[in-house]
Amino acid sequence: MHTTPDTLALIGNTPLVRLRGPSEATGCDIFAKCEFANPGASVKDRAALGIVEDAEARGLLHPGGTIVEGTAGNTGIGLALVANAKGYRTIIVMPETQSREKMDTLRALGAELVLVPAAPYASPYHFVHTSRRIAEERDNALWANQFDNVANRRAHIVGTAEEIWQQMDGRIDGFTCAAGTGGTIAGVGLGLKAKDERICIALTDPHGAALYDYYAHGELRAEGSSVAEGIGQGRITANLDGAPIDTQFRISDAEGYRWVRRLLDEEGLCLGLSSGINVAGAVRLAEHLGPGRRIATILCDTGFRYLSTLYDPAWRAAKGLS
Ligand code: PMP
Repeated sequence: MHTTPDTLALIGNTPLVRLRGPSEATGCDIFAKCEFANPGASVKDRAALGIVEDAEARGLLHPGGTIVEGTAGNTGIGLALVANAKGYRTIIVMPETQSREKMDTLRALGAELVLVPAAPYASPYHFVHTSRRIAEERDNALWANQFDNVANRRAHIVGTAEEIWQQMDGRIDGFTCAAGTGGTIAGVGLGLKAKDERICIALTDPHGAALYDYYAHGELRAEGSSVAEGIGQGRITANLDGAPIDTQFRISDAEGYRWVRRLLDEEGLCLGLSSGINVAGAVRLAEHLGPGRRIATILCDTGFRYLSTLYDPAWRAAKGLS
């Protein structure tokens, strides 16, 4: 029997599962990293731990200190758990448009929650800028800065990418996922390219994000909109800078939701919408590369976080999702 030395060691080393439906639909083997199996039930536990350990190593965080972050929710949940385990406090700034479950969870974990109206990045009231200001005004406070702190993507180079490579026995033809901060796509992309530069790295972009056009035509331009939480980026963050993107797909919420539904009904996985969008992207990548290929993607978080949104028929009807 294995034991785990402490609770923080529960982060990472997630299972990789073969998805039957997407594999049968394409004649490829499509595998997915079960990031909902992390203690905070999302991929962001990895970035949270990476950022906190990097700050400690650089002398930026001291005993009794406070970690401040602007987040769509999952990073805040990861930071709150890591902070509790290490004796820090957390202040989380979040747009009020995020799911109620994330807010309730953050409060339950002991984070101080600051809700702000949704505002464009250029506005000083955007949640990221608000979190930086709060950190600057506090003594002994660290601004985690997940978007531009590359300790985020490093966690995916040394963790997620290495694990995927090992779990697939070095036999992998392509990887894809969507970007919020870009830490996952850039970190896994860089990590896998270092193993074998022939591995195709594809960005899966939701509607309303600007990265598809950036990688396709060199111009940051957004089209349409998405209700997916945690993904959809309008700029090249420090984490995205230098990401080795070979090709890109634009995926609608409806296409992502169809996979959320199928994975729940046919394979017993309850996931958030960004996971469905990633799986839709993996199917596109399989079609792009052709049958017989081995492809990996990310199941970013648990669907239990979206019972009042994605899993509520009235909410879906209001958002035009069926
Ligand atoms: N899906 C969800 C649900 C998320 O919370 C996030 C993080 N913002 C992502 C995907 C994207 O991850 P990353 O920040 O590494 O790009």
